[in-house]
Amino acid sequence: MSRRLLRAVTGVCALLLAVSAVGAGPAQAAGPMPFFQLPFPCGETWRLATYAGHDDYDIDMTFTGGGSNGRMILAAAGGTISAGWSSGGGNYAVIDHGGGWRTTYMHLLQPATRSSGWVDGGTPIGWVGSTGNSTGPHLHYEVTRDGGKTEAYFNGSPSGITSDGSASTGPIYVSGPVSPARNVTSANCNGGQQVYEAHSANGWRMLPVSGGYGPVTASATAAIQLNGVKILYSSKGGQIFEAASNAGWNNLYTGISGAQGTALAALNLNGEKLVYSVVGGYIHEASSNNGWRNLNTGIGGVSNSSIAVIGLNGVKYLYSIVGGYVHEAHSANGWRNLNTGVPGSGVAAITVGTTKILYVVNGGSVYEAASNAGWANNWTGISGVSSATIAAANLNGEKLIYTMAGGYVHEASSNNGWRNLNSGVTGSRTSVLTINGVKYLYSN
Ligand SMILES: [Zn+2]
Repeated sequence: MSRRLLRAVTGVCALLLAVSAVGAGPAQAAGPMPFFQLPFPCGETWRLATYAGHDDYDIDMTFTGGGSNGRMILAAAGGTISAGWSSGGGNYAVIDHGGGWRTTYMHLLQPATRSSGWVDGGTPIGWVGSTGNSTGPHLHYEVTRDGGKTEAYFNGSPSGITSDGSASTGPIYVSGPVSPARNVTSANCNGGQQVYEAHSANGWRMLPVSGGYGPVTASATAAIQLNGVKILYSSKGGQIFEAASNAGWNNLYTGISGAQGTALAALNLNGEKLVYSVVGGYIHEASSNNGWRNLNTGIGGVSNSSIAVIGLNGVKYLYSIVGGYVHEAHSANGWRNLNTGVPGSGVAAITVGTTKILYVVNGGSVYEAASNAGWANNWTGISGVSSATIAAANLNGEKLIYTMAGGYVHEASSNNGWRNLNSGVTGSRTSVLTINGVKYLYSN
């Protein structure tokens, strides 16, 4: 195969010294090498290659499971990110990992998701594209040590992409065979787990939620329906993403960042999409109507493991855990956060008519409390569930509770006396929505 054809097929790039220089910076004694991971979601397999006339240690990465364009790029390790544009690298990002170590990512589809501040390893930083000097969608990846290019490692193993075989290019200036291409599967799994969708109409068969931008991975999810469209919000590395069933589950960054823990809730209020997360101990609200600006509600001191939201007569009700008790705040009284007196570590909320109903996990047992009974706390009989994970739904008056026990989602219904049945859906957390009588679970 001619090099021209090879380039057309795989998408590669020319020398990019200008961008590399951005990542060089002042030399400092190299500290221990960070434990780098492949900069793609957990489980994805990518082809690593170079070519004669490239640069030693430069790696061009293409997806083995289909097109590369638009696939999510993750930080290879934690560090301070910077980003910009150059004619060679197109949209690029550089992460300074400290100790003299940097990683560089080039040809991103759009500007990186952020251009400053700290990113954890596994944080989404952008999408694969073909901007700058590139013949097709791929990620150009480099590692520098004290400003000089060096061998890239992934999950503790060397990439093997060292030489471009050309004496005329750097940095090691040897002539010889081009390092052969090889496939590497990502173990970049800390930023979140694969999200699966299962629904009651097909026996809870689990299908991975995956779209044109790659698999949706998350540390927590929240799901709503809007005009029959299923919309999934996921948090990963502090960032919140939106994926919709009518857009092929393409996972889009909302711009909301700083989310902590697993507290995530969402609401469709008359067509306005609202997302709630915990930032610095305060519940923040972002709305699709204001471009997802993430505003502090002033509700503070809350646990970052669980929050819930419901809408009733146009009023938004938020439930959070403060000091081990569920608190309620609503938009009609300026978000004053009042103690319901219901103890718990995890909370879910539904409405039945105009009654607000809370489901709370406390000490592995699930309790139900209703606003029209003064939040009297009644044990459902459900026990042995994970401490902070609970979801609930009202399906035509049937109250449904979803909890985690033994790594499986369990379903209990008010119609069967809250018998807690194993759905067979695995995961560590779940969210739920209903459309046309079908129950949809999103587990991760
Ligand atoms: Zn390249």
